Amino acid sequence: MINEERLKNLLIELIRIDSLSRKERDVAMRLKRELEALGAEVWIDDAGEKVGGNVGNLIAHWDGDSPNASPFLLSAHMDTVAPGEGVAPVLKGTILKSDGSTVLGGDDKSGVAIICEVLRVLKEKKLHCGALDVVFTICEEAGLIGAKCLDVSRLRARTGLVLDSDSVGFLFTKAPAANRFEFIVHGLEAHAGVCPEKGISAIQIAAEGVSRMKLGRIDAETTANIGVIEGGVAVNIIPNSVLLKGEARSHSEEKLAEQTAHMIRCLEEAAARHELKLDGQVFRAGMEAKVERDYDRMNVADDFPLVHLVRVAGKNLGIEVKTQSTGGGCDANVFNKKGLEVANLSTGMREIHTVKEWLDLNDLYLSARMVLEIVQLNAAGSAE
Ligand SMILES: [Zn+2]
Repeated sequence: MINEERLKNLLIELIRIDSLSRKERDVAMRLKRELEALGAEVWIDDAGEKVGGNVGNLIAHWDGDSPNASPFLLSAHMDTVAPGEGVAPVLKGTILKSDGSTVLGGDDKSGVAIICEVLRVLKEKKLHCGALDVVFTICEEAGLIGAKCLDVSRLRARTGLVLDSDSVGFLFTKAPAANRFEFIVHGLEAHAGVCPEKGISAIQIAAEGVSRMKLGRIDAETTANIGVIEGGVAVNIIPNSVLLKGEARSHSEEKLAEQTAHMIRCLEEAAARHELKLDGQVFRAGMEAKVERDYDRMNVADDFPLVHLVRVAGKNLGIEVKTQSTGGGCDANVFNKKGLEVANLSTGMREIHTVKEWLDLNDLYLSARMVLEIVQLNAAGSAE
């Protein structure tokens, strides 16, 4: 029932519209028209103003013909990562790629296009379905900040799917919580050649601290990284300040807290080893830590109705759906934190966030068939 040609064409059209984070306006306007033509009530929230972007999240209430069925959420994000402007999609057989100079943007325009096609089919074929809430977010790639701004009290659905992951047949139900760090190490400035004994090198302290940190894969549930170091002014000045940016993620809140404390402690201990007496005065190195919760974990249990629903839909199409945990975060993390029950279903996107990104259209079509089956099953099951 999925109109493959129409789905492919919409995907390619969307891919050609630039929509880096905070610049999703053009694609949002295109989708607003699309959803209104399908008879949905569509509005744009104030997330754009909150995050400094040119448009907010696009939300649509689409009423099916089964008012007793429980409403269902379908969501995807409109923004893409860089380099993502002027994408020129190249189709060879069923494989869609960029020309190699940008990402493809199948992350997440594949999800967006699937949702639109499913609505089109439901309407065109007059299929039985309950109410659908569609949410196309902004700024997912900028730290899920569009979803964070979303007022979920305006949604009717309490459960549903984010379409934002790769291989077909996988349902991501578990994702870690993440903390983001900014550490500033303070030393003491001095001329490196004339009076180095009057200086404390912030770079040296940062290096000592980082060298003692457990980083990378900590255990099956936990990862950590220092991703940015900035500091120093000139080769002949002992640097008085270094900025380090990093993150830690874990499926366990306890382990995340432990890893966060460990990273802070390594830098504090390194700083504490450096002090200097100058003209009767004591100078100590110091460290400031700013820890921010990036996102909370997603933890949809295998026995939840949503997982059962997706499994049955897969079975009906001859696919064995596997639940999986991921090391990354997505809008579903935020929706779950806000009290919804949402998992992340795959769309066929591959090698995302690289210029080698590609997508097999057959996977896209199969995902669309899955979503169509899911919303119909949901309606049939909950209207009884
Ligand atoms: Zn994505």
